[in-house]
Amino acid sequence: MVRCEVCNNEVVEIGMDVDGSRLLLRSCSVCDTRSWHRDGDEVDLEGVLHDISAMPTRYRRSLSK
Ligand SMILES: [Zn+2]
Repeated sequence: MVRCEVCNNEVVEIGMDVDGSRLLLRSCSVCDTRSWHRDGDEVDLEGVLHDISAMPTRYRRSLSK
C-alpha cells in the first residue's frame, strides 16, 4: 500500500505501458495530488498525458460555458 506524500491517505495506482516504458500514475482521492512514475523514477507528465488521465470535470464545465 502506498500513501500520499501530502495527506498520508492511501493512493490509487494505475499502471500503463507507453512507448515501451512502464508508467504508473498515483492518484490521491482526498487531496487530488497526482504523481507519475516511470521505471521507478518520478516524472512530470501532467502536461503531456493530460488527455489520457482525463481532465477534471470542473475544467470541462468551465470550458463549455
Ligand atoms: Zn493526498
